[in-house]
Amino acid sequence: MNNIYKSIAIDGPAASGKSVVGKQIAEKLSYIFLDTGLMYRAVTYISINKKINPINVSEFFSKNIINLNLSDSKNIINYEKNNITSFLFSNEIDSNVSNISKLKEVRQNLVKEQKEISKSNNIVMVGRDIGTKVLPNANLKIYLDASIEIRALRRSKELNGLSTNIIEEKIKNRDVIDKNRVNSPLKLADDAIIINTDTLTINQVVSNIIELSKQYE
Ligand code: C5P
Repeated sequence: MNNIYKSIAIDGPAASGKSVVGKQIAEKLSYIFLDTGLMYRAVTYISINKKINPINVSEFFSKNIINLNLSDSKNIINYEKNNITSFLFSNEIDSNVSNISKLKEVRQNLVKEQKEISKSNNIVMVGRDIGTKVLPNANLKIYLDASIEIRALRRSKELNGLSTNIIEEKIKNRDVIDKNRVNSPLKLADDAIIINTDTLTINQVVSNIIELSKQYE
């Protein structure tokens, strides 16, 4: 391990529960939490709304034009000092984010930022390429999975009952692009532990991962 700080990498497909689980683990262990999906969503939002090339937008993190506030395990994204976090989960962003995330330059810039953050903090980082690319030496790597039906059902409850069929289609589309892109596709790291959450509660998943983190210190 070449980093004095500890890290837990959590990857998995869309709506597999990574963010809610990762946040709770970070709180329990007093690690910082980084939901890398928000960074890809922010690049997508700004490039669509300001009509700026996403390749240039992804540099905004290092230039502090986009600011990522990680305090209290809430991940807040500010763009030119305005909090844009609540705009990052619209249908429009969901439909476009995977096509922007597959761009090599976008990934290079964001991965650089993510690695930088991990160098000075104990961290729980969630995404698609954390165990494979961003934190290849993470103390613990988890791959959270769940069936498409369960993921759609859970997301439908979060979205006040929006039809599970529609949600299922959207999730599938994102998974296909995320798993088949050329640059760091979503895949299982060789040393990741798979947790299928179909029959588990959030609390059970969190406890399982906390237990595993003690074994893998
Ligand atoms: O995790 P979330 O569903 O919010 O991520 C939104 C999108 O961002 C994913 O569908 C994927 O295209 C992209 N993403 C990625 N790499 C990550 C995290 C997210 O490509 N590490």
